[in-house]
Amino acid sequence: MTDKIAVPSRTREVLAKYGISAKKSLGQNFLTDGNILRRIVDAAQLNKSKGALEIGPGIGALTQYLADEAGTVVALEIDQRLLPVLDETVGQQDHVKVMHGDVLKEDLHALFAEHFHNVEAVSVVANLPYYITTPIVMRLLEEELPLEHIVIMIQREVADRMTASPGGKEYGSLSIAVQYYCEAELVAVVPRTVFVPQPNIDSAVIRLTRRSRPPVEVADAQRFFATVRAAFTQRRKTIYNNLRAAFPEAAGVHDMREVLLSCGIEPSRRAETLSMEEFARLSERLGVLSG
Ligand code: SAM
Repeated sequence: MTDKIAVPSRTREVLAKYGISAKKSLGQNFLTDGNILRRIVDAAQLNKSKGALEIGPGIGALTQYLADEAGTVVALEIDQRLLPVLDETVGQQDHVKVMHGDVLKEDLHALFAEHFHNVEAVSVVANLPYYITTPIVMRLLEEELPLEHIVIMIQREVADRMTASPGGKEYGSLSIAVQYYCEAELVAVVPRTVFVPQPNIDSAVIRLTRRSRPPVEVADAQRFFATVRAAFTQRRKTIYNNLRAAFPEAAGVHDMREVLLSCGIEPSRRAETLSMEEFARLSERLGVLSG
């Protein structure tokens, strides 16, 4: 097994050897702490019958740990410059496949069919590029890929929003979108000091575990999400004001106050206090009214 590269001196050495400087535009902050890598990999509950998809392997710090635990590892990296590095650090193992590609464009169902057809379960495990965290997570959830867990390092602030419960300032449409599909747990808070180069924000690791069915039943999931987004348009405004502005046609015909009260929701409340069940009731009611 290759020496672990997740130590600052070794990371700098590898980057220097290949003449690579980290690209900020691709969110390149390389993780250099073995204890955190261990916690990420433990949270994914891998074994040799399972597969791991890593998004953005960088120079292979996390990939090395995944390769020790999983039966198949696919590592998808957008930066062509890193491919020869990955070839040296992790690519020599038969069960590790390094691929060049953009996670937002790649046909992930085809990738799963080709590389993960003989594993029991697959998890996404990644230290994500921060500039596209939300689009990546939403793509993984909305495409309904057969994933056991999604264990990701992301900005602390986004982790707080994805795992938030009603009532706090972190709770919003992202919390609901993620928790509609998954159970979301905080695994670890990670200081900025463990990256090379150091980002100017702290990070956190979260684990998302797909629910067998959503926690609320709605006839039309898109309408449900549209209702949630509308309710949070201006956080400081009441749910009544936000909904009236977002659904002017319904508001022209129906009294939004009555609509809210008929769902058991006080019109003067703010969206951040509504539970997922209350949003579901509201979206169903708006659906009935709009015919
Ligand atoms: N996994 C490494 C680690 O933990 O040290 C690197 C993590 S770094 C935060 C994010 C990685 O994602 C970089 O290697 C970057 O080049 C890659 N990346 C950025 N955008 C990507 C995309 N659209 N598709 C695939 N990889 C991407």
